[in-house]
Amino acid sequence: MTGWETIIGLEIHEQLNTESKIFCGCSTRFGDEPNKNTCPVCLGLPGALPVLNRHAVELGARAALALGLHINNESIFSRKNYFYPDLPKGYQISQYDRPFSANGELEIMTAERDEAGHPVEWKVKKIAITRLHLEEDAGKNVHEGLPDVDKYSYIDLNRAGTPLAEIVTEPDFRTSWEAYDYVNHVRRALQWVGASEADMEKGNLRCEANVSVRRVGDEKFGTKVELKNLNSVRFMQRAIEFEVTRQIGVLESGGQLQQETRLWDERAGETRVMRSKEEAHDYRYFPEPDLPPLIVADEFVERMRSGLPELPEARRRRFMDQYGLSFSDASQLTSERSLADYYEKAAEISGSPRNASNWIRSELLRELESAGLLAGSSPVAAEELGALVRLVDEQRISGKQGKDVLVEMFKSGKSAATIIAEQGLVQVSDSGEIDRIIDEVITANPQQLEHYRAGKETLFGFFVGQVMKASKGKANPKVVNERLKTKLELS
Ligand SMILES: [Zn+2]
Repeated sequence: MTGWETIIGLEIHEQLNTESKIFCGCSTRFGDEPNKNTCPVCLGLPGALPVLNRHAVELGARAALALGLHINNESIFSRKNYFYPDLPKGYQISQYDRPFSANGELEIMTAERDEAGHPVEWKVKKIAITRLHLEEDAGKNVHEGLPDVDKYSYIDLNRAGTPLAEIVTEPDFRTSWEAYDYVNHVRRALQWVGASEADMEKGNLRCEANVSVRRVGDEKFGTKVELKNLNSVRFMQRAIEFEVTRQIGVLESGGQLQQETRLWDERAGETRVMRSKEEAHDYRYFPEPDLPPLIVADEFVERMRSGLPELPEARRRRFMDQYGLSFSDASQLTSERSLADYYEKAAEISGSPRNASNWIRSELLRELESAGLLAGSSPVAAEELGALVRLVDEQRISGKQGKDVLVEMFKSGKSAATIIAEQGLVQVSDSGEIDRIIDEVITANPQQLEHYRAGKETLFGFFVGQVMKASKGKANPKVVNERLKTKLELS
């Protein structure tokens, strides 16, 4: 692959989180009976007139501001003409030459990954944003799960008219991991401010990648291939990797690339041709005559801006400064807003922000993940986790006991104090009692003692284990270590 440079540009469509559609009052609810949520406007019946949903504009503004983009005071809706069965009007209302936002710049943190998939070195990268515009979604052709699908296509227009924001970048990405980190950045920002659920699996965040390669030093871009059907950020990353290797392979063997659209097939792990350039559309854009220009006053933008929560990157930096967390810990804790809120509350109650971070990252997140929950709906409240961290820090219970207590808290919803009282858990730190257990263990293991004294120091761990076991996990490991060292040397 050396000698080649990869060029990637991305388009993201995200569904704005409104209750009704962008140009009519129909519900945007997912999973309803097909064609239930339709009306003359979103069915494209003659004479029906669109009316812009104010909330869609507000959420579009939140999305733009969360990404640090400027909002134009005036933008124009345009008709994008093409024929497709799921598009009843024969055109999509979108924005073209005067979009909601244009010429922005976004700063992301990105890192290449090693063989094991771990980030190597995080660095800042600036991505030029060509535009963010508002538009309506199309409906959906259904080819599965209905009678005679081999003979008929079915059309569900529930989705037609759902508000979308489309974000287009310049071809600024040079690796698949940069693209991966960018999409995750955008997704987190949109979820964070409530603009979109931004869930790729549900299809409310969709992504397309334009990929080409060129010889290092070439000025001219190579032939560009558009990748679709990227149903997760990871699929997108893999699709780009595959495509780069394929393109270089074609060019190095003297072949030529076609400008085409290719679909990612996750099962086969490859991209396949969907359509070639000959079928590409000329959309004949023109201004939508049924909608006036969208005027967005500065006061509106300022009101939206002042209503935003502290944004994820700012919060990550603050976590590092205020709580002394590492970049990767702070990044993980700000990967989602309810988790960041959870952490701050737990940190405050625990009195130890670093320990709270460790407990959340190593213990709580594992429980949440296996239960398929976000921190915001954790059965263990942040205050309760903070209280548990404090109990362990104060050595009222051992770390090992604490972990078991957390699992029990997660299952039963009881507080740490209740579980500790019910189970009679205490950590024994009294050196007299620990000495007694150590003496028993030493007496019971004369051979190991002999070997240890003869220089086999690895047996120290064996003795620690025996003492912990004899104390049923209640002995304070720090005291055990100290006392054992003394006892094993002396007795
Ligand atoms: Zn409608």
